[in-house]
Formats: sequence, C-alpha cells, structure tokens
Amino acid sequence: MANPISNAAPHINRSEGLIFERSSPGKKAYRLPELDVPEVDPAELLGEAARTDLGSMPEVSEIEIIRHFTRLSTWNYGVDTGLYPLGSCTMKYNARVNEYVARLEGLGGAHPYQPEKLSQGGLKILKLLSDALLDITGMDAITLQPAAGAHGEMTGILLVRAYLESQGNPRKKILIPDSAHGTNPATAAICGYAVENLKSNAVGMVDVASLAAQMNEDVAALMLTNPNTLGIFEEEIHKIADLMHAKGGLLYMDGANMNALVGKTRPGDFGVDVMHLNLHKTFSTPHGGGGPGSGPVACKTILEPFLPVPVVATKPDGTLGFDYDRPRAIGRVRAFYGNFGMHVRALAYIMANGPDGLRQTTEDAVLNANYIRKRLEGVYDLPYSTPTMHETVFSDRLQTRHGVKTGDIAKRLIDYGFHPYTVSFPLIVHGALMIEPTESESKDELDSFIDAMKAIAEEAAQEPNVILEAPHTTRVSRLDEVAAARKPVLRWKAPEQKA
Ligand SMILES: *Cc1c(COP(=O)(O)O)cnc(C)c1O
Repeated sequence: MANPISNAAPHINRSEGLIFERSSPGKKAYRLPELDVPEVDPAELLGEAARTDLGSMPEVSEIEIIRHFTRLSTWNYGVDTGLYPLGSCTMKYNARVNEYVARLEGLGGAHPYQPEKLSQGGLKILKLLSDALLDITGMDAITLQPAAGAHGEMTGILLVRAYLESQGNPRKKILIPDSAHGTNPATAAICGYAVENLKSNAVGMVDVASLAAQMNEDVAALMLTNPNTLGIFEEEIHKIADLMHAKGGLLYMDGANMNALVGKTRPGDFGVDVMHLNLHKTFSTPHGGGGPGSGPVACKTILEPFLPVPVVATKPDGTLGFDYDRPRAIGRVRAFYGNFGMHVRALAYIMANGPDGLRQTTEDAVLNANYIRKRLEGVYDLPYSTPTMHETVFSDRLQTRHGVKTGDIAKRLIDYGFHPYTVSFPLIVHGALMIEPTESESKDELDSFIDAMKAIAEEAAQEPNVILEAPHTTRVSRLDEVAAARKPVLRWKAPEQKA
C-alpha cells in the first residue's frame, strides 16, 4: 500500500531524527513599510510593561514557515484522512456545515460580555440545543457548561452529592463496574467518594445479584456506561435502576456511548437520574486536538436545583437570559457558558439530521460495527458472544500464540494506512482490540479496514517480525510511550533554553 506521507520523507533523517529547527539569525517572514510617523520609545508609552528582551524567537523566511506548518499538518492523522476506529471515542466525521454555521459572523464574533438583549440569537441556540438534548435523553433539566465528558462526570457527581447532602447525608461510596472508563473512578475520587468495584457477569453485563449484595445506604450512586464499554446494552437496566432507588441511591449514566442509542431509547425512560453527553463524540463536534470539547449534563427534576449557575431561562418579558439566582447551585464549573462554538456545531448537526436522520445515524453506526464483527469473527477472538451495538471488542488470544499482541497489531495497522483501534481497553478483556467505525464510513472503507486486519492476522502466523517491528512507514517507529505520556514536550523552546 502506498504510504500517503512518504513525500515528506526527505525531512526525516533516521540517524539524526527530525529536521525541525530551521531558524537562523536575520531571516524574516515579513517586510514592514517605511515608518511614516515619529518613532516612539516603547518604554515611554508603556513604562515598565514594555518588553525589552524579546526572547529568542525563531527566525525563518515565509516559505520556510509555510512549509514547516504545512508539513506538520500532513504528519497528523485525522477523521479527514481516513477511518479512525478508536472504540469508545466515537471519532465520527465533523460535517462542514457545522463549521460554516459556527463561523457565521453574528455567532463566531459574539462576545460573552455582550448584553443579554443583544445576545438573544446566541441564547436561543443554547435553548434549542438544551431542548433537543432533553428530548433525545428523556431527562428534565440540563447544563451545557462542562467542557468535556470527564468534566461532565464531575459536575454530575457533584449534583448527586449536593442532592444527598440536602437529604442529610452525602454517603460514602460509588459503585463502578469493572468495565468502566478510567475517568469514572477518578471522578468519584475527586468528588470525595470511595470507589467500589462491581463485577461483570459471564455475558459482559452488570451482575445484578452482586449489585443487590453491594448496594446499601452508604452508596451514593452507581456510575454506569450503557451500552457498556464492551458495546453491550445492559438488558437489566430497569432492575439496576430500581435496586439503586430502593436504597436511596442514584443512577449516573456515562453517556459517551450515546451513538448507539440516539433516536432509539432514552436514558430518562430507563431510570437514569443524571448523565453526561460528549458533544465531541455523539454530536459530531471536533475531538481532542481538533477543538475544545463539550460535556453537557442532563438530570431529573430532583437534581435541577443544584445545576451550576447560570442556567438559560425565559424571563417574564419572554426574552431569554442567564439565571444566576439559584441559591442551591453547586457553583460554576466553567467560564461563561461553556464552549459556545461547540454548542452551535452540535445544534447544526442535530437540525441537519432531524429526528429521522439521527435515528438512521444510530442504526448505521450499529450496522457498521456489526459488519466488522461478523467479518473478523474467527480471524480474531471474540471474548463475549453477546450481541454488541456501535462497537465491538476482540482479543489478541489467537495472535499471542505467535508472540503478537494487540499493541503490535495496532502499530502494524498504521502501515496499512489506518489509525489504530483502542488498545487494551476495556480492562476486563485481556489484550483487547476495541473497534468503533461510526456511521460515517462507507462499505468500501470498512472493507479496506477488514482486509488490512485479515492481512495482519495472516502476517502474525507467517512472519510475525514484520508486525513486531511495525510501523515501518512512519517518521519514527516505536516510541517510549511512557515518557511520551509522563513527560510530553508540548511546546517549542528556543534551543538554548532546552532543559
Ligand atoms: C471518552 C469517554 C469519557 C471521557 O470523556 P472526555 O470527553 O474524553 O473527557 C468517559 N467515559 C467513556 C466511556 C468515554 O468513552
């Protein structure tokens, strides 16, 4: 397969590493016109605030800087480059209509300090999005403030805490299934709760008998992902909700997997008390480096008084405004009203699709995942035979016989032109390969991915070293992943300042 980025290869030298530094003294990427006003000493205008030492900024020509950033942009892989099957992350296509709408002058140029009277359009967008999300989730009240899923979790659990405190006892523990995303226990801990692990049963669902045994008046809530991180719908969700409520606990739903439910079933109808949504997953706003996130939190009426301030409200004169007069609120969780540009994009996505389109999206996402599952079943081990929804989890059991693990297969996938799937998660599957294609992909793209996965399985049996040394087509191959995570170098530093 052709390497789409090999045209950038001259800029890497395998022995010396990346040729990144192109600065040399005196080069400029600009030329200013002759000064036609009297020259002023900056210190005279700005006093002490005037900066005299400009630091060592890179000095490059215009073409060098253009090539530098253009080249870096081609070294990245994104949903605009190809399939991005990162399970649990819902890396769907970010439709250009969203970007168009978010850039409309009145929206892109809106300022958060604009008076409410002049922000009626923006407020209407917040209201329309809130109403649409409440309709989709079957919940009663919502805040759009949180800036990510994990931030939404924290907001949601603080609502639970405030509510239970108002009942006289915040309680001590939060139950979390062993298949949960790592942010769930982190959230519980940061909100002051002890985490208690809940076992999954043989078919990959919450073990209801264990839940019944573990649920007591010390437990504040259960944090549940549905469908869970195996892609399996919790069939006994009603029973689970009833068990929680019978002992005065609440049911929190991690809504990261809503791409499997939108238009089909609603958490509010199956007993969930509070949940977050990831607009950057389910609702097609850019994810990660592509832009800020958004993690709205929706809840039932009992939790509404505690929602962060402000909330969008209709005033007596019929106009929209922010209501700050909420004495029981948990406070603020984000500056202004969250990432407004993301709210605009999510609403554009919802309105462009409409109810039927959103339902179709869900069906296509589930169909695509099941197409992959069916065609790779037997080539890769399927640890749970329970039907799955929008994502499917294999294990590397058949490949470990040849010394090839899930992380190796993922690296080899890069050579075939695909972003890796999610590696080694969920933790309850040893050597997990978690694949979520989303609805965005054509059958052709899915078939190419399946062909690549089959070819890698064949290689594992015939010539495992090719996989163990992959990737072969990238500028750098196997990196120190621990150092990359623990000591990331995220900004450029002038050479002499390098630590
Ligand atoms: C992505 C994800 C989260 C966290 O969301 P962020 O927006 O990345 O903070 C939580 N739970 C699950 C199941 C997820 O997939």
